[in-house]
Amino acid sequence: MSVDPALLSILRCPDEHHAELTLDADEQTLTCTECGRVYEIRDGIPVLLLDEARSPGGADGDQR
Ligand SMILES: [Zn+2]
Repeated sequence: MSVDPALLSILRCPDEHHAELTLDADEQTLTCTECGRVYEIRDGIPVLLLDEARSPGGADGDQR
């Protein structure tokens, strides 16, 4: 199941910078172009929650 490109184009990182997200079609994840957080896509629905995001190079979860 893939994400609607039209939906993808309006999605932004939920953090305060609201940067654009890059789709990884193989991993079914969205990566923030600003902070590098990785958001999972579950059943075609992007989970854009800071608590659910994977931080780059770190453990799962929120590291702040
Ligand atoms: Zn971000």
